[in-house]
Amino acid sequence: MANSENLLEVRNLEVAFSTYRGKIKAVRGVNLELKAGEVLGIVGESGCGKSVTAHALMGLLPKSNSTVENGSIIFDNTDLLAYGDKEWQKVRGNDIAMIFQDPMTSLNPVITIGKQLKEAYKIHNNCSDSEATARVVELLNLVGIPSPEKRLSEYPHQFSGGMRQRVMIAMALTCSPKLLIADEPTTALDVTVQAQILELLQDLRERLNMAIILISHDLGVVANLSDRVAVMYAGEVVEQGTIDDIFYNPHHPYTISLLKSLPRLTDVKDEPLYVIEGQPIDLKLDIPYCPFAKRCDEAMNICSQHKPKVTNLDKHHYVCCWLEAKAEHMRRKA
Ligand code: SF4
Repeated sequence: MANSENLLEVRNLEVAFSTYRGKIKAVRGVNLELKAGEVLGIVGESGCGKSVTAHALMGLLPKSNSTVENGSIIFDNTDLLAYGDKEWQKVRGNDIAMIFQDPMTSLNPVITIGKQLKEAYKIHNNCSDSEATARVVELLNLVGIPSPEKRLSEYPHQFSGGMRQRVMIAMALTCSPKLLIADEPTTALDVTVQAQILELLQDLRERLNMAIILISHDLGVVANLSDRVAVMYAGEVVEQGTIDDIFYNPHHPYTISLLKSLPRLTDVKDEPLYVIEGQPIDLKLDIPYCPFAKRCDEAMNICSQHKPKVTNLDKHHYVCCWLEAKAEHMRRKA
């Protein structure tokens, strides 16, 4: 049953791809929720299913080789998975918008920025050219592009990487979406520009009360902006909690390993960075046990035999690990 306080509720989402190597189960029972104006970070290494989850939320999974095998995506109390193409087109841009890692691949290099933004606005709004221009200038101002009127006639290559990402954010905001999905929005940018884009997202979230899902392989990036964080591994959310839960009181061995592998200014010079040994599990397999078992320093026999259940540590903090299930069992017995 959906909680009407939530803007978004993802329940037991499962997504599979058919490939020449066989069926890959990329997302395996993901549960997420998000309130209006809230920022949820999703972290995990490449291939953990975070971007596939985001594409499912936008209805952008490739039809030729992907299937949503199970679950629901309740947005504004409606299950988006029941939608056909026309209804999805209305949702995309109007209610949910997305920005990607490399703005250059999303912008057409031979069309001016002004024309591209106006076209994006006109798709969703029946308006005159001058009205569209006024809205586009307003949006470029909002995302911090100086002299927007002058820049309308420029092409994408005349903008720096950071400015191009600002243009993409402006394009995503054309219809004031309730949810913005940002998939690795700062990965292609240098550190200073990265900080500016995160600051801009934070500012927009406050000014527009817009919810954001921020996807990143970098825990440092999500720490800056998120209220809550979901840690994904092998297509599953293995731990979810507030920023404080995840950064100061992590419980899942994978989350702890991710935090240990973050470089710190205080690290002793010449000491190698911590790495998580081993390889991620093959997502072609059925995995009726803990997917992290082969890489986990804490693994017990049960970990490679049975799937751990979710343990709620408090209202927002839950973990999918046998260590916590055992601790919970002991607490109940005491
Ligand atoms: Fe490690 Fe076992 Fe917990 Fe998996 S369930 S993370 S293997 S302790």
